[in-house]
Amino acid sequence: MIASYCTDALADLVAGTGELYGQQRSARFFFGAEPQELRWVLRTTDDAINVTIYKFPDLAVSPDLPDSGGTVMWQSTHPRPTFAHAVLAAAHTVLKEHDEAGYLAKWAMHPYPVALVQDLRRLHMRDDVCDLPNDLSCP
Ligand SMILES: [Zn+2]
Repeated sequence: MIASYCTDALADLVAGTGELYGQQRSARFFFGAEPQELRWVLRTTDDAINVTIYKFPDLAVSPDLPDSGGTVMWQSTHPRPTFAHAVLAAAHTVLKEHDEAGYLAKWAMHPYPVALVQDLRRLHMRDDVCDLPNDLSCP
């Protein structure tokens, strides 16, 4: 999936996942893939996270449309620890590949979301039972 640099895709994904550790039961954000909107909706029930990605043909009008106005292009459910771990691992991979300066250069409008990643990792370590190796050396 190619996400446009006009939206802060990685930060939104990390932040949206972190939101599900509180009282909030769902989080939504979109990746602009001009002219399309790819709308991510994360819903949590018990300890699982359901991911649905809706595709809308025209980003110019679709932010006002309900989810039902889009086409479901992806749907999956994961245990929360697995999902959060995967999001953190993806963020770390991006950082290792590009480092912060490289990330900013590549994404132009958005710095690497250090604080959001740290928040999510703190929540993941505190609230999830995760047997996978967690890379604590990354910022
Ligand atoms: Zn983990």
